[in-house]
Amino acid sequence: MVIAVANQKGGCAKTTTAVNLASALAKGDPDAGLPPAKVLLVDLDPQGNASTSFGINNRDRHRTVYDLLMNDLGEELPIIDDYLISPEIITDAMEQSWKQSNPDKKIPASLKIENLWLLPSNIQLSAAEIELATRLGRETRLKEGLSPALDEFDYIIIDTAPSLGLLTINAFAAANWVLIPVQTEYYALEGMSQLMNSIKMIQKRINPNLKLFGIALTMYQKSKLCNTVVDEVRKHFSSQVFKTVIPRNIDIAAAPSEGAPITLLKKPNRSNKGSQQYWAMAKELHQRVNFIRKKYGINEPSRLSAYKIRLGK
Ligand code: ADP
Ligand code: MG
Repeated sequence: MVIAVANQKGGCAKTTTAVNLASALAKGDPDAGLPPAKVLLVDLDPQGNASTSFGINNRDRHRTVYDLLMNDLGEELPIIDDYLISPEIITDAMEQSWKQSNPDKKIPASLKIENLWLLPSNIQLSAAEIELATRLGRETRLKEGLSPALDEFDYIIIDTAPSLGLLTINAFAAANWVLIPVQTEYYALEGMSQLMNSIKMIQKRINPNLKLFGIALTMYQKSKLCNTVVDEVRKHFSSQVFKTVIPRNIDIAAAPSEGAPITLLKKPNRSNKGSQQYWAMAKELHQRVNFIRKKYGINEPSRLSAYKIRLGK
């Protein structure tokens, strides 16, 4: 399944949510009923924050999602493997940047990740919005580029930019689900009707399969205001809102500077609330997926044994 993490608001934890869910789903927690899954994280924001969250240096010369979108091979589909960063390289990048901020400590074993691939991005992608405008198939280029990967991954998670422009439209065209992070603040619901209209428009014109997967409440603090916002969002979107709420937590914000998402950096327990709640959200996501599959009679085997995409460059 392909999930676009979207909200045109900046700073509502799209990247943080995409990166942590992707990591937890890939790693899995079999004892808690979360089997490891094969995951592709697509960084579709020119800021490249999803890539840097793993210590992947944006200046490194690997191909990016920009190259995939601009590929003009005509009838031929691009070879997706050439664009992906492999779990080995992601692990290496996390370990190196962790070592840089903790020179005297032993690298935590939890940084090792096996089933996560990354399609990176960098600032070059900011030109895509304009460059794509005159290209054929401008709205469905990501969908086309990712199509060879669909059968290879259990989850493809797309982190989008804070806009409803052509890049995000490409994410909506390629996805079958949208996950919307909402910051629990006073203006939480502002812009939501615009976002919903945009999704409706895409459903009508480009991708009838696009559906709302859920709303993730983020940066919650115990306060009257936050509680009011949570109540309001739940009233409005009822069961579509995740039960798990992500607290405002300094460790979550500090994690990228250590080069790894909080779900990999810190053990999920009471003293690491940020990690604990993102792990809980990953489990809830998995349960929802199971529920959806049952409802529609879909029986998909795990993709971990699919071995075509193994080595990224
Ligand atoms: P977006 O991708 O929607 O722009 P980010 O995921 O980059 O948002 O988050 C915006 C900022 O807030 C980042 O600095 C991030 O580290 C921080 N942040 C995200 N989630 C939390 C949280 N639960 N608690 C504290 N800080 C957070
Ligand atoms: Mg972001």
